[in-house]
Amino acid sequence: MEAGREFDSPMYHEAVAQFDRAATLMGLDDNVTGRLRSPQRSMIVSFPFRHDDYTEVETIFGYRVQHLTTMGPTKGGIRFAPDVDLGEISALAMLMTWKCSIVGVPFGGAKGGVRINPLELSRAELQRVTRRYTMEIINVIGPEQDIPAPDLGTNEQVMAWMMDTYSQHVGHSVPAVVTGKPPALGGSIARREATGRGLMFLLPRAASEVDLDPVGVSVAIHGFGNVGRYAAIAGQQMEAKIVAVSDISGGIYNHDGLDVEAVAKWVDENRFLEGYPDADSIDGDSIFTLDVDILVPAAIQGVINKDNASDITAKVIIEGANNPTTLEADDILRERDVFIVPDILANAGGVTVSYFEWVQDVQKYFWTENEIVARLREIMLTGYEEVHGIAVREKVDMRTAALMKGIQRVADAKLVRGIFP
Ligand code: NAD
Repeated sequence: MEAGREFDSPMYHEAVAQFDRAATLMGLDDNVTGRLRSPQRSMIVSFPFRHDDYTEVETIFGYRVQHLTTMGPTKGGIRFAPDVDLGEISALAMLMTWKCSIVGVPFGGAKGGVRINPLELSRAELQRVTRRYTMEIINVIGPEQDIPAPDLGTNEQVMAWMMDTYSQHVGHSVPAVVTGKPPALGGSIARREATGRGLMFLLPRAASEVDLDPVGVSVAIHGFGNVGRYAAIAGQQMEAKIVAVSDISGGIYNHDGLDVEAVAKWVDENRFLEGYPDADSIDGDSIFTLDVDILVPAAIQGVINKDNASDITAKVIIEGANNPTTLEADDILRERDVFIVPDILANAGGVTVSYFEWVQDVQKYFWTENEIVARLREIMLTGYEEVHGIAVREKVDMRTAALMKGIQRVADAKLVRGIFP
């Protein structure tokens, strides 16, 4: 039976359409296909949120979706954003399943979200929302059950409050209940940089696909939060030229390359890119059509779409954000031979180092930064080569190849586990 309207959202339809396309090409068993289309568990919560002024109490909605519990515990970020809904979170949970499978992380996909604008909250309000949301979903999370992490609009501090709330509830400290927490609480060194850094490990390989020299290659990055910032820093360290970055306040451009550390310092002090002195201001959305070699969407979904896909001049797109490219744009870009490293491969560095963090927490034995970075690099490059091998063998694009790889392992696991009862 088809999923009902409960998951209805453009993003969920896109995720299912991508999955269906790959499943058809793979000749996947219809019974398995039907099962993987719908998330296994979805939780919707609503709770009261008291503003700092003590006069207003708002009802807030939150979600936690576990797409697949076949492979082990589930894993996925928590996003705080004003337009989050069940369909979006379900789509992201599904993408997490394929992502974990591609890089061999023994988790199923999950995702969570709270429909709220974190930019409008004071620190105290953010803490209250986080703790109450954690209480509402406390029965479905846990180190052996489902392990949240940061995503859009959340960060290390939010993870620390989640860990504390869970630990207060069970009566002892449970660092392994979340990843992406501060190292002082058992967070992993190098988790903060992991997604951006992992993505940039793939840049030289992706550049070589279109005969670009990675040294001096020009890069524009949409989003300057966790993913965008550390992608920019890693890119600059690899001698790529980061010419433009943008955030919700707009974009900045410098033809000779931005001083990324100085930009990061500016954002630490001023919260947004707006007003940064040593670059030209540009409209945030114009970043997609700048004359650059490589484009890295690293903010929100759906930003590369039918309205701008034909105007993109970059030869390579490395997707840091989840689902930044709509299906229509994907078709346009494929026809134009733009080489896309898809989200479920390109941004898998985050969940990989989250997995390392969970292993370290469970074993109470911590690794050095060099060990973590070397293992991350090896996993990202192996994932890339395996996906690329499928793309060449099956004559498909990298997104379809990545999906095929991600889905196959999960489908195999489902079949051998059988059906209960
Ligand atoms: P973040 O909240 O740290 O940063 C988001 C950035 O995007 C900020 O610079 C913000 O100003 C900008 N932004 C937000 N809304 C925007 C809008 N409407 N228009 C333009 N810019 C906007 O989030 P993040 O953790 O960097 O996540 C970014 C993307 O990467 C998301 O799609 C997330 O799902 C994905 N992702 C994150 C991780 C991770 O480890 N954090 C891992 C994998 C994928």
